[in-house]
Amino acid sequence: MFKTIENEVLKKAAPAALQREFAQYHFERQQRFCLLIYIASIVIWLVFDLIVSFMGGLRFTYLSPLFLGALSIIATLLAFTRKALHFHRLNVLFVLLMTLSIRMVIDALPANLQPAWLVLAASSILYSASVLPLSHGSFYGALLITWLVLNPFYGTDIELLDLKGTITACYSVFLSALTLYSFVKLRQARLYAYIMSKLLLDQAYLDTLTEIPNRRAFMTTATRQLQAHPREHEHYLAMVDIDNFKKVNDTYGHDIGDLVLKRIAANIKAVMAEYAYARLGGEEFAIYLSGVHRDDVEDLAARLCQTVREDPSEYPVTISIGLTQVAASDSLSQALRKADEALYQAKHSGKDRYTFAA
Ligand code: GH3
Ligand code: MG
Ligand code: MG
Repeated sequence: MFKTIENEVLKKAAPAALQREFAQYHFERQQRFCLLIYIASIVIWLVFDLIVSFMGGLRFTYLSPLFLGALSIIATLLAFTRKALHFHRLNVLFVLLMTLSIRMVIDALPANLQPAWLVLAASSILYSASVLPLSHGSFYGALLITWLVLNPFYGTDIELLDLKGTITACYSVFLSALTLYSFVKLRQARLYAYIMSKLLLDQAYLDTLTEIPNRRAFMTTATRQLQAHPREHEHYLAMVDIDNFKKVNDTYGHDIGDLVLKRIAANIKAVMAEYAYARLGGEEFAIYLSGVHRDDVEDLAARLCQTVREDPSEYPVTISIGLTQVAASDSLSQALRKADEALYQAKHSGKDRYTFAA
């Protein structure tokens, strides 16, 4: 069963909007990790620069503090970046500055050591890039910049066709293919995991027939709002039940009954868009209204009754609504019971109306 659903979902290419949503989610989840990679890269580069400059007795120029400053600014910018797209661009800049600063340090090494250190530096950068939440474009950009700046054949003493050169070239190709493969596979696995969990969450929290939130979603959302501190204005709970719904089923059949349920759900969604609403089960719905006054609640309840009553349809119905104010000390089930009692009053005083719990 799981495999069938998984294959069904994964067969369809993820639409562009979903890909963007995933990129943003992925970046937000990994932003601290990205920052850690940036800071670690800067520290490692600085340590190498200091070793080469002082222990190696080579050179420490004004370029070192300049690179350090620029790299630190990018790391700081990353901490304040909110959009994945901006991170993807920032990363290209970071890789460019990082490779240039590494090239500067390696250029100061003895010529025979340079090719090996260039490939080592390139592999560290490409491996790090392969685990970051980058877009394809940003990763390919990093790959290109890395080999352009850290090209082991540029300014060194090796030739492509001598032994050292051939080995270096083969290893560089292998390394690029390996990191590219890891990046693509890891990104794909993360994207699939995101799509699957989103789909399963949607199915767990949405009512299949009416496509509005279900009881499980309502219990979670309403409980969170009920326990929120401090409370903004008052909280109210409404229970909605379709009047004489059995007759709709008996007269027109179950399928028409289902259509009516969908219509009522759409009416609730339209009138109560700002609040937490759900189909609790059968032909019963609930709405949790927070941050409102009693007058607003009465207006909304009256508007909902009117919307349903006046909805032009071959199968007209009405609804009854039970309302209660939710005290801070109430549990959700206590509030539901009070609203249900109010609903009972509404039914027994003629239906097609709302009643407040006494
Ligand atoms: P009242 O005005 O007192 O609420 O009367 P009622 O006829 O609506 O009575 P009741 O609330 O007991 O009826 C609920 C009916 O809703 C019974 C059941 O067949 C029907 N029902 C529950 N779930 C569904 C559903 O998913 N689809 C359809 N078509 N009918 C459903
Ligand atoms: Mg009922
Ligand atoms: Mg009913």
